[in-house]
Amino acid sequence: MPEIRKDPVVGRWVIISTERANRPLHYGLNNDSSENGCPFCAGNEDKTPPELLVFRDKTDSSTAAAWNVRVVPNKYPALVAAEGKPVLTGKNEAQSGVGAHEVIIESPHHATDMALLSETQFRVIVRAYHDRMKQLRTDRRFRYILIYKNQGVEAGATLEHVHSQIIALPGVPARVTEEIQGSKDYYELNKRCVFCEMIRGENGARQRLVTENSRFIALCPFAPRFGYEVWILPKTHSSVFEATAEQDAADLGDILRDTLLRMGRCLGNPPFNYFIHSNPLDESANDHYHWHLEIFPKLIQVGGFEWGTGWYIHTVTPEQSARALREAIL
Ligand SMILES: [Zn+2]
Ligand SMILES: [Zn+2]
Ligand SMILES: [Zn+2]
Repeated sequence: MPEIRKDPVVGRWVIISTERANRPLHYGLNNDSSENGCPFCAGNEDKTPPELLVFRDKTDSSTAAAWNVRVVPNKYPALVAAEGKPVLTGKNEAQSGVGAHEVIIESPHHATDMALLSETQFRVIVRAYHDRMKQLRTDRRFRYILIYKNQGVEAGATLEHVHSQIIALPGVPARVTEEIQGSKDYYELNKRCVFCEMIRGENGARQRLVTENSRFIALCPFAPRFGYEVWILPKTHSSVFEATAEQDAADLGDILRDTLLRMGRCLGNPPFNYFIHSNPLDESANDHYHWHLEIFPKLIQVGGFEWGTGWYIHTVTPEQSARALREAIL
């Protein structure tokens, strides 16, 4: 059973999940990375736990696969869906690792670069995100759900077959609390959502605009942590990711694909991470927080200065990053 421990100084939570040590080695270093041995490829469905959700493409008869996106429980979960009560060990706070950890398998074929998936596939992936969020939020033990993706060994992926993950947590992570508090403070002072202001700013100057469609915008943030960091935001204010309409799933899929293609062209298919930041489950929809997706291409290793300070040093401005991404020929 995993355990969640709290650092007594800064209140940071960590997950200790020794079972995850049994995960397969990094791909390329073991034999399980081939198509035949890949647990995510069509035909190998028995190598994963039974699926929680599956989307089938009835129109595509060219493929032997009976599905195009599957969601399965993570075979090596960081958290498990068992009862957990807070416990105190001396002065140290810990609790059993209750939660959920799932994998979204993004293609039946052995694709390794998400950007090369079809438009339809991206739209189905976003629908899978929506559906699982809606389902997981009905479990009252969970307080936060994070959807995230690691592509490439350097970005933390252990299997190369395209996939993303969804994790339900019994608490709200500090990164999220920090963002919500910041946006609340901004709202109280200015009576406007700070993210909406950001979007409005880019609509004017367009200096940090990467790409947009009718419902979404992709931009490089003013003070990023990494070079070529991109945020995707809905143009209409919304604090809850899965509360958006069906048409939004299509537009989000489109802009995500567009952005990843640009990054691939500009930066030579770098490893990357992305994640979706949305409202905590027990907070109602509000005017100050605005859900978004953050993408970090993995171009450098985070060093001692960044770890020691939480500050970041750049050799490329977000304005230059945005221009290069904007001008990338797709
Ligand atoms: Zn595969
Ligand atoms: Zn907003
Ligand atoms: Zn965020």
